[in-house]
Amino acid sequence: MNLLIMGPPGVGKGTQAKIIKNELKIAHLSTGEILRKEIAMGTKVGLIAKDYIDKGQLVPDQILLDIINDRIVLPDCKNGYLLDGFPRTLGQANGLEKIMRSLNHSLDMAISLTADEDELINRLIKRGQKSGRTDDTPEVIRKRQKIYWVQTAQILDFYQNKNLLKNIDGLGEINEITNRILAVLK
Ligand code: AMP
Repeated sequence: MNLLIMGPPGVGKGTQAKIIKNELKIAHLSTGEILRKEIAMGTKVGLIAKDYIDKGQLVPDQILLDIINDRIVLPDCKNGYLLDGFPRTLGQANGLEKIMRSLNHSLDMAISLTADEDELINRLIKRGQKSGRTDDTPEVIRKRQKIYWVQTAQILDFYQNKNLLKNIDGLGEINEITNRILAVLK
């Protein structure tokens, strides 16, 4: 099963992705986590990505496509994978389709978690106070929400047109949301 999960920052997609990955025994590929690891290791990709991430901007498509291209062929993706935080632009969605086609992989579903923006901003401000993540300041949070709706929401249409999109209400208890997701995967 090859899936992707989308949703504005703070909707809890990372949390859900980790649960779904364990339920389905597939790999969980979070591009945000991969990029933060690259930064921590001080790689060339990490050095480039840091500038964009700290400003709350998207990292260029080709960097992400190269990462995904290398990652989904690894053995832990044999059973399937759940892409989290990718694709974020139409260029990435088109690029992903090409990569998957070349590998004879197919996408089973695009899950979109939805929630009210003010609620999300409040959640992220709280998370920022605890996590110390450099991109969790109120100013960067608002910018990332805006970027999500301006740039990334287009890809909802992309997957809607392919009949792969499932909208899931992302507000509520963690297990309620998990159950909503698992129900559409059956
Ligand atoms: P996330 O942990 O998914 O919220 O990602 C944190 C940051 O990493 C984002 O604000 C972007 O700067 C960068 N990032 C993660 N995934 C992508 C992607 N698919 N395309 C571009 N930038 C990304």
